[in-house]
Amino acid sequence: MPAIAFDNTYARELEGFHVPWKPAAVPEPRLLFLNRPLAEELDLDPATLSTPDSAALWAGNALPEGAQPIAQAYAGHQFGGFSPQLGDGRALLLGEVIDRQGQRCDIAFKGSGRTPFSRGGDGKAAVGPMLREVLIGEALHALGIPTTRALAVAATGERVYREQMLPGAVLTRVAASHLRVGTFQYFAARREPERVRQLADYAIARHDPALRAIDSAPERYLAFFAAVARRQAALLAQWMNVGFIHGVMNTDNMTISGESIDFGPCAFMEAYHPEAVFSSIDHGGRYAYANQPHIARWNLARLAETLLPLIGDEPQRAVERATEVLDAFPGWFEAALRRGQRAKLGLASELPGMVATGARGGEGLDALKAVDPQAEADDALAGDWLDLLHQQRMDLTQAWRFLADEAACGADDAARTSRLRSRFAEPGALEPWLARWRERLALHDGQSPAAARPETAAAMRRASPWIIPRNHRVEEALAAASDHGDLAPFERLLHALHRPFDEHPEDAAFAEPAPAEVTACYRTFCGT
Ligand code: AMP
Ligand code: MG
Repeated sequence: MPAIAFDNTYARELEGFHVPWKPAAVPEPRLLFLNRPLAEELDLDPATLSTPDSAALWAGNALPEGAQPIAQAYAGHQFGGFSPQLGDGRALLLGEVIDRQGQRCDIAFKGSGRTPFSRGGDGKAAVGPMLREVLIGEALHALGIPTTRALAVAATGERVYREQMLPGAVLTRVAASHLRVGTFQYFAARREPERVRQLADYAIARHDPALRAIDSAPERYLAFFAAVARRQAALLAQWMNVGFIHGVMNTDNMTISGESIDFGPCAFMEAYHPEAVFSSIDHGGRYAYANQPHIARWNLARLAETLLPLIGDEPQRAVERATEVLDAFPGWFEAALRRGQRAKLGLASELPGMVATGARGGEGLDALKAVDPQAEADDALAGDWLDLLHQQRMDLTQAWRFLADEAACGADDAARTSRLRSRFAEPGALEPWLARWRERLALHDGQSPAAARPETAAAMRRASPWIIPRNHRVEEALAAASDHGDLAPFERLLHALHRPFDEHPEDAAFAEPAPAEVTACYRTFCGT
């Protein structure tokens, strides 16, 4: 088996946090996908990892030297209800490697068979949903959004039963770590504060090593909580700005690292609608698009509860300190959202004299005005734009992308050639907003409002993708792979998703939204 330089701190340092376990043997391993660029980032040799023999590795039949497979324990709030024991019911952490950037990464299997955490499940995964993890993870990564990524998918030659018989697969996933809010909840619920402390120390060493310099333990753990919250604020803002709907933001699916994880029922929004929800089991819209930042904060409150004993001996005081962080979260989220929206609006660089990062959270509107006088007006500009897209049932991705065309040519040319206007049911509804936006661009760069701004347009196109994983295209690719063993559509789509900001004519079909009636009926499924 190819050599992988494992160094397994989780297995070694956190005894009692996992169960050593072995992947199940499968009849006919076959490599379906190997992420060569990711393998290279991990300092692994793609050539030796893609030989016919290596399929045995990716399916779990042969373990690479140094792997110490373990099933990790975690709990979680699922749709608001607490499950004290979830854990890796069909996943195994093989171990950790250091990538070329010096970052420690987990390498883990998903779909590698039953474990002590499987409850009633079969421990297996199907080809379609595992290739879906590839597409979504790679798309988010190419969009610059922190995410776990797929390293490989191997078919097992088994059938798994999910309402129908489906071809089985094992996914190999790479993550900054698999620490989740639910990992902390598991030990807090068992009233094992010492283990929560051990976990927090481990997480700090791995994700926030600079915080180890804080001598006061309560301050250090509070700073750790704030660091997790800031990462989630930044992540949620990025999701929102590309219309990503995770679909199952349970606390066991929220990482401490700030990476996106677990793409079961996720979907990308097409026509802009704040209440968009695609998951077949999300009846109440708990995880609807516009609810996501609120849910992130709710999940962070659950993390805070587990950390309270570490944040202070005096419970009331600890609650107050943690609440300060939770109260700051909306401000952090909004600042990150605004930063992304400004880039999409062509306002990437700040005005002279403006504090680059905008307002800090929890400081109120007056403080915000003092450090960033345009913040309120820019929020209104972006908000009114989104309202317009909502009214006009406009595709979110195309709307932002085509707005760049408006910047590229002067106001007069744009009126004649605009892709944006041609997509609006009532193009007239757009004019007052476009005029207001041009005024704002003029304030920003000192040119006349009607000027052509090719450089601004280029910057906008680096902030607003042409290609996202459109749901109907993802389904098409997965159906071909799963039903007919035809990986060509998957590979074509993946290729396009890897270069989302460039317009290549051969990718044009991937840039078009699905017919509205298709999107209206689109449902995603959990427990895949
Ligand atoms: P997920 O919906 O993938 O985030 O999983 C939620 C929980 O259910 C985790 O504890 C998983 O390990 C477990 N789980 C999901 N699918 C299966 C399965 N087929 N067999 C065993 N456990 C599963
Ligand atoms: Mg999960």
